[in-house]
Amino acid sequence: MAVKIRFLGGVKTVTGSSHLVHNDRTQVLLDAGLYQGRRDEFYAVNSTFSFAPRQLDAFVLSHAHVDHCGNIPSLIRKGMRCKIYATHATRDLTRLMLEDAAKIQEEDIKYVNKINKRLGLPLRNLLYNQKDVSNAIRRIHPVPYDKSIMIAKDFHLVLLDAGHILGSSIIVLEIKDNDRVIKVGYAVDLGRNNLPMLNNPEIPKGLDYLILESTYGGRQHTPVEDAKGHLKEVVNRTIARGGKIIIPAFSLERTQEVIYLLDELLKEKAIPAIPVYVDSPLSAQITEAFIFHADYMNSKAAHAIQHGQNPFEFINLRFVASQDESKGLNMDKRPMVIIAGSGMCESGRVLHHLKNNIEDSRNTVLVVGYMAKDTLGKKIVDKSKIVRIFGVEHELNAEVVVMNSLSAHADKNDLANFVFESLPLKRIFLVHGDPEQSQILADTLSASGLNVHIPDIEEEVELI
Ligand SMILES: [Zn+2]
Ligand SMILES: [Zn+2]
Repeated sequence: MAVKIRFLGGVKTVTGSSHLVHNDRTQVLLDAGLYQGRRDEFYAVNSTFSFAPRQLDAFVLSHAHVDHCGNIPSLIRKGMRCKIYATHATRDLTRLMLEDAAKIQEEDIKYVNKINKRLGLPLRNLLYNQKDVSNAIRRIHPVPYDKSIMIAKDFHLVLLDAGHILGSSIIVLEIKDNDRVIKVGYAVDLGRNNLPMLNNPEIPKGLDYLILESTYGGRQHTPVEDAKGHLKEVVNRTIARGGKIIIPAFSLERTQEVIYLLDELLKEKAIPAIPVYVDSPLSAQITEAFIFHADYMNSKAAHAIQHGQNPFEFINLRFVASQDESKGLNMDKRPMVIIAGSGMCESGRVLHHLKNNIEDSRNTVLVVGYMAKDTLGKKIVDKSKIVRIFGVEHELNAEVVVMNSLSAHADKNDLANFVFESLPLKRIFLVHGDPEQSQILADTLSASGLNVHIPDIEEEVELI
């Protein structure tokens, strides 16, 4: 009975990860991420499936980022009835991420349909709603790390710690094929060593095949260890000018990491005790889930939380709840740190803070995450003289600092080392990367005599 992988999404691009592993009688889906694109494409791609969701026997979710979990409710809508396997932390974080994704869509559809109605155009449908989200979460069956369980006929599953975000997993499938077992590893996404709070990625043993991300297949990051010192310098420099530090940050993981480092700097008295505001209701909820799931953190962070040294509760830290309080921060002229979403400055409360602070050269915009092209965040990174916020032009006079040392993705060297440590491997499939990034990694690995393939979308490969 042939075992095959069909690469359905997150192939030659970084969003919409989804892959089907199957034999003649069993179908197991790995991830169902939201594909990000222009509005028409977004709704078309995410609502179309080239397989029958009802026929799936099991679903395994690697982690709670929406490019991996964001389209699960669409599958539920299309009839998926099987169990979803993920870690406990991933389940709780996925609930928050999906509720937020549904809310964003509801607002978007309301806005679009108002225009369409006026123009006499057909009205759009939601991809999914909050009810689909709760139906999806109900199907998630929590699985601990490092424990083999049978998930469907011929398929066993082991989750390993991927060290990428809290609760993230490397998925290992052990597939019975006549009198042999084929072992397939899926490290999408893969973290790095020494990230704040997280354990280092585990190395899978005895794999035959590896599906590997390649987001930074051709790049090298600044070491994680530089992050704290860099943050200290930026904060002190801005305070000395009497300015504010605005940090656009993703609500999941990056926000908690920045708070964690600020807490350490405050405890060491390396920075003055200025107020730190986290202005994102989603970040507040996610931080709660982090505290609840401290057992997924490295021993240092877990020990601190479990022994009354919670890094998310220091005295100057405040989670801003209401819009009014958020706007009120503008009246407060003291130096402060404001961490707010969205991470790429495309929406959310960070826009108000940028609008109010970007023209003042005493302030700093500290970029700690990835900024996709054509976003306001990218324009800030590129130090454009003029940027548009809420349709109004603003001069960018604030200092802009880019800090990529906190990247949660393995870089070129990390990825290659991970592969070398996982050898012997019959074949490596590179996904989750722009083509040039995947190609650089493929060339590096091929040069060491490894069998590497960058699949096309919808390509099916038999595991021989
Ligand atoms: Zn991820
Ligand atoms: Zn991803």
